Amino acid sequence: MDNIGRRDHSQNVDSISIRVRFAPSPTGYLHIGGLRTALYCYLFARSQGGSLILRIEDTDRSRLVADAENDIVESLQWCGIEVDESPHKGGQYAPYRQSERQSLYLQYAKSLVDAGHAYYAFDPPEAIENLRKDHATYGIQTRHQMDNSLTMSEDLVNHRLESKQDYVIRLFVPENRTVSFDDRIKGKIEVESMMIDDQVLTKSDGMPTYHLANVVDDYLMGMTHVIRGDEWIPSTPKHILLYEAFGWEPPEMAHLPLILSPTGGKLSKRSANRQGIPLNVLDYRTLGYEPQAVVNFLAMLGWNPGTDQEVFDLVELEQQFSIDRVGSAPAQFDLKKLQWFNAQHLRRLNTNALIDKVRPPLTEQGVHLPDDDYLKQVCDLVRDRLEHVHDLGLHYRYCFEDPEEFDPVGIKKRWKPDSATLVEQYSDLIEGMDEFDEQTLEAGLRDLAQKHDIGAGRIIHPVRLAVSGTTAGPSLFALLKVLGQTTCVRRLRHAALQIES
Ligand code: GLU
Repeated sequence: MDNIGRRDHSQNVDSISIRVRFAPSPTGYLHIGGLRTALYCYLFARSQGGSLILRIEDTDRSRLVADAENDIVESLQWCGIEVDESPHKGGQYAPYRQSERQSLYLQYAKSLVDAGHAYYAFDPPEAIENLRKDHATYGIQTRHQMDNSLTMSEDLVNHRLESKQDYVIRLFVPENRTVSFDDRIKGKIEVESMMIDDQVLTKSDGMPTYHLANVVDDYLMGMTHVIRGDEWIPSTPKHILLYEAFGWEPPEMAHLPLILSPTGGKLSKRSANRQGIPLNVLDYRTLGYEPQAVVNFLAMLGWNPGTDQEVFDLVELEQQFSIDRVGSAPAQFDLKKLQWFNAQHLRRLNTNALIDKVRPPLTEQGVHLPDDDYLKQVCDLVRDRLEHVHDLGLHYRYCFEDPEEFDPVGIKKRWKPDSATLVEQYSDLIEGMDEFDEQTLEAGLRDLAQKHDIGAGRIIHPVRLAVSGTTAGPSLFALLKVLGQTTCVRRLRHAALQIES
């Protein structure tokens, strides 16, 4: 057989290290569910000191999306999921694109025919359609009614092959068998062979089906573990039979729990759209999410560390991940939870990293960028209140520009008949301050309140409204300090006039 991507059988079994693959089909952009699979493959490989392989399963040429492979690679990179072998990086088992390994699969399928585990089938599509009307599967009960190398003479079969008639190669599924495998997450899974189609292995154009190419490559590339979504469970018994037919040891299987939409039911393109959930990984980048937050959120979508810790970066996940702590129950997607993780990861950034992150959205929002020193002060002031990098320009624009409007509900609630006078008096006080720090600002305000025999809140709320236009925000004195003496005085005086009128 061809030497393409052959497994090195000289390796001693004991010395074989863990090898896991992420094997997407480039039929669309990488979605959030696919990313979870990639992440779990990565975490398992890293936690075991093993390797992660990216294999592109692109044999179904009709469903190919031109830039999907680039999107997959870019999405993984954005999340920090590094692969050890891939079409771009190369590796010992290259090529890693199935379309470049095509010649291999037909040879393997034919070797199964020679060994009596598969057969040539010449049935026209209508014959199969008719058969489907009466039987659930094409296999054990039906294969002897059809045109194939089981029912035809060898001469006739050879004649058909030589005269280039269309054929597919089908797996010969053994009768009266229980096909079983121990899934690392789901436990023992058993299926009666009666229920399994004589699976097509190569199509009439000679292209392999997913099942054949997947099994052949997992074997040749030395995969020790297959970790994938549980929508692939129905395929696994077919794969087990294929491994058996080839005489190969199957890898260990682990099927990840389904991801449910927030209202229940599978998280699909439709349900995600309906519920405003971005589906493609790079949409999360466009929306300004932290990649670490997306990774953390997805890690917790099916896995738990067995402790109270919720916030992890990728390195911490690599250290703590264990496949045995992946649950078998479906996991529910919750955008609010992702938002929460985003806030936690923004908090973990150092100020320099944070200002780099907030600059682009601020520019997009038309905020005139201040110098880095001022931006740092603003970031330190509000960092614990940010859920998202866009929040700074959205909710704290007053840190950069005088407020144009004052919240009418806030005015109604907080602006009293004496507010304008109090705000003006406080602005006079600020103007005369030699020390402009939080303590002096606070002491001055409390003195003023005492002088008028009123609670400090009576001044605090109108002052906040005057400088920020809103009634909620970070510590008032810290805010005033960041805004600076001149800005505070200007805003207080302007607001006293404006709100009063
Ligand atoms: N190419 C399949 C997919 O698109 C791979 C499934 C598997 O991991 O076996 O997800």
